[in-house]
Amino acid sequence: MSFTNKKIIAGNWKMNGLKNEAWQLTNDLLSKFESPDQKLQFEMIICPPATLLSEVVSMVDGSPIKVGAQNCSDKLNGAYTGEISPTMIKDIGAQFVILGHSERRSYYGETNEIVSQKAFSALSQGLTPIICIGETLEQKENGSALAVIEDQFTNSIPEGASIENIIIAYEPVWAIGTGKVATLQDIIDIHTKIREVSEKKLGSRNISILYGGSVKPSNAKDIFSLQDVDGVLVGGASLNADDFWNIAMES
Ligand code: PEP
Repeated sequence: MSFTNKKIIAGNWKMNGLKNEAWQLTNDLLSKFESPDQKLQFEMIICPPATLLSEVVSMVDGSPIKVGAQNCSDKLNGAYTGEISPTMIKDIGAQFVILGHSERRSYYGETNEIVSQKAFSALSQGLTPIICIGETLEQKENGSALAVIEDQFTNSIPEGASIENIIIAYEPVWAIGTGKVATLQDIIDIHTKIREVSEKKLGSRNISILYGGSVKPSNAKDIFSLQDVDGVLVGGASLNADDFWNIAMES
């Protein structure tokens, strides 16, 4: 069994949101649910900036919404000024952590090896890493996308990972925040490749794979119609409660 058999709707707020805005957005989302034990066809995860994690965890307590961080250290504690450890994230009640987002790979030099070390530490603390992989436009255009995906998957997944304890997000770099969405065939091809590599590395194709890259209410239905898509990782549209909810409603 993969991480869950429900669709996963994860929101990456990135470096957006002050206390008031987070309060408003979280409350607006909470108001969409009818009751805490409402039967839903999806799991909703929101990933606010680190400064808001504690507040948001308290707000969603008892609701179906779960919370994740956007990054963590590969160390558990010690003299690492400015870092936030997976132990700390777990301690405040978050359950997930996005790792290897393309913004962290490109702006902060995170390699597959670093992502794998972070994921290893996150797993050791009982967090579920959402590990992002995806090709750049140049790699897509020069025909190396499938090889890049294989390399990123193989080398970003840590020892101890299984199809039950990690989630993969396929996020083509050229589709993030650009309004350009991968074609349905692109998504099928890459998700199929990820399943092949998962079988080799983890012994099963049934890993949870999210698609990310300019997902909006208007394109969510088509994306969810693909059998190989287990959910979505949403950036920009997760900052608007109506849009994020409407994406979930298409799942
Ligand atoms: C993201 O940053 O993970 C993302 C998918 O962003 P957007 O939805 O804005 O393209």
